[in-house]
Amino acid sequence: MKLNRNGRILRVFAILLVMLMIVSNLLVETQAKTSKKNSEKTDQRSECAYKNKEKIYLNKNWKYADHAKITSGYAVFYKAKKNRKGIIVGINAGHGTSNVGSRKTLCHPDGSAKVTGGTTSAGSTKAIAVSGGMTFHDGTRESTVTLRMAKILKKKLLAEGYDVLMIRNSKDVQLDNVARTVICNNVADCHIALHWDGDGLRYDKGCFYIGVPEKLKSMKPVKNHWEEHEALGKALIKGLKREKIKINGKGRMAVDLTQTSYSTIPSVDVELGNQASDHSNPTLVKLADGLARGIDRYMKKNLQMIERDAIEKAKREG
Ligand SMILES: [Zn+2]
Repeated sequence: MKLNRNGRILRVFAILLVMLMIVSNLLVETQAKTSKKNSEKTDQRSECAYKNKEKIYLNKNWKYADHAKITSGYAVFYKAKKNRKGIIVGINAGHGTSNVGSRKTLCHPDGSAKVTGGTTSAGSTKAIAVSGGMTFHDGTRESTVTLRMAKILKKKLLAEGYDVLMIRNSKDVQLDNVARTVICNNVADCHIALHWDGDGLRYDKGCFYIGVPEKLKSMKPVKNHWEEHEALGKALIKGLKREKIKINGKGRMAVDLTQTSYSTIPSVDVELGNQASDHSNPTLVKLADGLARGIDRYMKKNLQMIERDAIEKAKREG
């Protein structure tokens, strides 16, 4: 009787011990899986599909690539040397495409009409593939200044550990606005186009970003991304403000842009002033500081969303 009882106790104890071992094993396995998953994620980010200074051409299979008309040029990828974040910032120095001629692209991928005026008036379904840009009151071309700005910003971002996709890396690039946007969509984590406004004013009115017009928010692909565009625009303006740079009004103006209409990643056109603005090197350096601050702010807040977009992008590539 006594022995039987001890035997039962022993059996129960043995069963409990086995169960405990199974549970602890399971726990260790799950933990290992989670940490493997996390390290894979980090690997994916730190690993890079592109080499430093690699030329990146428009891939005809990319979504909307067939809408582009000027496509023979290439963007250049720059890889950060240290403290890599695994985030690629697409920098698009506005304008700077020669011999555009009469080539036009659809304002919207679905062929619908433009909802606001701009370089192309409201109601048009086609726009000049890439416009020439304005001339500052001192005679300097906007495209010259946007390229200088892009180079200064590139240097700053690389030093901070961001990789950079330079959409235009020299005086001329044979890529229209659709091609530039599609390359960014498929290579970069965000797209920032640099411009100065050609408003004819004689005074510096300050910086602003181009917001998404209400009527565009229901059109694909804007429907799924306009909030990202707005958030990135706001972050850039906040960054510029922190550098005590003059902001125009609330820092936003809604315009129907080709860039926005074709963007599937956070994408914004930032107007860094107008024809009367100072564009000396110290000013451009200050602007780069503000923009980099804004990019940092956006990335810290939205890394999860950026990762989701990267996974979607990887799926598309199959
Ligand atoms: Zn411009």
